[in-house]
Amino acid sequence: MAVQHACMDTTAAGTPRSLATEAVHAGREDLAELGLHAPPLDLSTTYPSYDSRAEAARLDAFATTGAALDGPPVYARLGNPTVERFETALARLEGTESAVAFASGMAALTACLQVRIAMGLRHVVAVRPLYGCSDHLLTAGLLGNEVTWVDPAGVADAIRPDTGLVMVETPANPTLAELDLRAVAHSCGEVPLLADNTFATPVLQRPAERGARIVLHSATKYLGGHGDVLGGVVACDEEFARRLRQVRFTTGGVLHPLAGYLLLRGLATLPVRVRAASATAAELAARLAADPRVARVHYPSIGGAMVAFEVHGDPHAVIAGVRLITPAVSLGSVDTLIQHPASISHRIVDEGDRRSAGVVDRLLRMSVGLEDVEDLWRDLDQALGTGRADDERPAAERAHTG
Ligand SMILES: *Cc1c(COP(=O)(O)O)cnc(C)c1O
Repeated sequence: MAVQHACMDTTAAGTPRSLATEAVHAGREDLAELGLHAPPLDLSTTYPSYDSRAEAARLDAFATTGAALDGPPVYARLGNPTVERFETALARLEGTESAVAFASGMAALTACLQVRIAMGLRHVVAVRPLYGCSDHLLTAGLLGNEVTWVDPAGVADAIRPDTGLVMVETPANPTLAELDLRAVAHSCGEVPLLADNTFATPVLQRPAERGARIVLHSATKYLGGHGDVLGGVVACDEEFARRLRQVRFTTGGVLHPLAGYLLLRGLATLPVRVRAASATAAELAARLAADPRVARVHYPSIGGAMVAFEVHGDPHAVIAGVRLITPAVSLGSVDTLIQHPASISHRIVDEGDRRSAGVVDRLLRMSVGLEDVEDLWRDLDQALGTGRADDERPAAERAHTG
């Protein structure tokens, strides 16, 4: 699990830097030169300029190319220096040319769809499960899109001349189902593959190395890591990034500079947090798998800090019973959270679609934090109770049919 990735970027000497090093240095290389140690937080909405001819030329250049502005910022919806530091750092960690940040994960996904729809490519091919709201956005066709849901093996056959994106999550929210990104990317041909990497983070998996052209994050989760910042980010090639910046400027889904500051700070500890929480999650997954009150445990082959499990008893009783663990939606924070996907995160998905994607009613999704493993296990153990709310057979008998 504690894989050390060498990043694409190299130092002046040409030696690749490890992910852990990039996490604390990327996006901050100019600070010493500026006489600073902590990154500056720029809250300006506008910036003075006495040369409006030059500004006109710079705005024309942005309108035609979408390239990040050279020189001083103009207006906060066009770009912000603190947010750009976070974008630089995340691109480095994901091994992509660029990254573009948004107000939330959903704003980031919306912008990706808008880029393609504006090119007349209204059709999306997607694999379930996805995060509930991503599923809903595609299914509702709110942005004027159409969607075809397929298994990974059906991607190639579902592609049409107007297909603008193929979208997948791996490990997926909430079942932690995994798919072979390289194989799916191959099936996509010329169509960009968008991989939501929120659950794995670049610490465990870098989808761009496996052929995904677009890597999406709900930065609200592991990148921020402390449950106090909402954000989204797309890591991609500079060509797609330019279109995303133009959409962001026009539609206004910008990340607040304070959020950019907190996300940059979050990245510094991302590798340490993910590795520590993953070790605890792996141990809890093993204990749950051996527990007669638990019917099934889902834990990704690549590791990670998310554990999903199906209980024999009443899942609502487990949610009501936790004391140390917080019963709340969201994930990726320093503290452990648990929620019932069929009631909360995936409520918005049609019941039939939800169940066929494996989001069964007895499934619970737990985001493991940085607490001590024994304290977490004690809490889970007491919350699982007798595990027999609607199954009164003795545990030994049940184990045979589980
Ligand atoms: C939370 C989440 C999103 C949506 O992100 P927001 O920041 O809440 O808008 C998208 N994808 C996945 C996998 C998520 O967990």
